[in-house]
Amino acid sequence: MKKSISLILLVILLILTAGCGQVDSDGGSVSSNNSLGLNNSSETSKPTSSVENVSSKEDTLVDDWRTHPEDYKLIALTYDDAPSFSDATGNSTVKIIDTLNRYEGRGTLFVIGNKLTTNGDALLKFAVDKGFELGNHTYSHKSVSTSEVGKNWTATENLDDFKRCQDIVETWTGVKMKYLRPAGVHANEALYEAAKGLGLPCISGNCKSAVSDYKSDVSAEMIVERVLDNAFDGAIILLHGNNTRTAEATERICDILYNEGYRFCTVDELFRFKGLDYDNLPSGVMLYGVDPVTGEPIVEKEY
Ligand SMILES: [Zn+2]
Repeated sequence: MKKSISLILLVILLILTAGCGQVDSDGGSVSSNNSLGLNNSSETSKPTSSVENVSSKEDTLVDDWRTHPEDYKLIALTYDDAPSFSDATGNSTVKIIDTLNRYEGRGTLFVIGNKLTTNGDALLKFAVDKGFELGNHTYSHKSVSTSEVGKNWTATENLDDFKRCQDIVETWTGVKMKYLRPAGVHANEALYEAAKGLGLPCISGNCKSAVSDYKSDVSAEMIVERVLDNAFDGAIILLHGNNTRTAEATERICDILYNEGYRFCTVDELFRFKGLDYDNLPSGVMLYGVDPVTGEPIVEKEY
């Protein structure tokens, strides 16, 4: 009798052990196949099925030019202040995403953390699903130059604000952002120290905010002209995803630049395709591209 009870217990134990092994290996494979920087942390509310979905969409976006990017001119179009809308249907950001995808490309949305609490994460999840990268654009969007509050922030206060954005995006979308674009693209020593503390390189954009697409009197025509004037192989361009003029301009910019041999990539892809190591990108400076002659990151100390 005792023998048969022991045998039953042994069988139950074997079944339980086999079950645990199954869960572990499944979790591991989803995580390791993930090329978008999504994590599988239990803190994120994103279901595993969505993570797999993102991975398979990513595969379909990997087209021919990415296997030999050195044969093309590369440009990173970036769009600030996301998410500007609470849905992912028919708005300017969706149009921009669709346009870039149509030209075999993708870009980067820089996210204001507090906008997730008002607009939700639908647009960001849509963007990630279409191969877009998300970047940190602070939680509060307080400039260290023009905001009375931001001006006086210590490194720790800056860090808390950036980390808050980092955390809400990771929890809601599963994306661990790799780059910081400070509010207003303004920086000071406290901000650089905070960015360094989080290990996030600071990204501005060529022509800085001179495109000024957020101003209502800047037409689509003017946006196109200003971007084309500042485009070069390795450039990062700063735009905003919240208006129809920029969405219209993006269509024309893509059409013209694609035919000139440009391809459209994320900030992270730009550095990677140009052979730069993320861990060695300079800190304490603003980066706005990769020098087409030297292959070095282009840095701007004063902003
Ligand atoms: Zn902004």
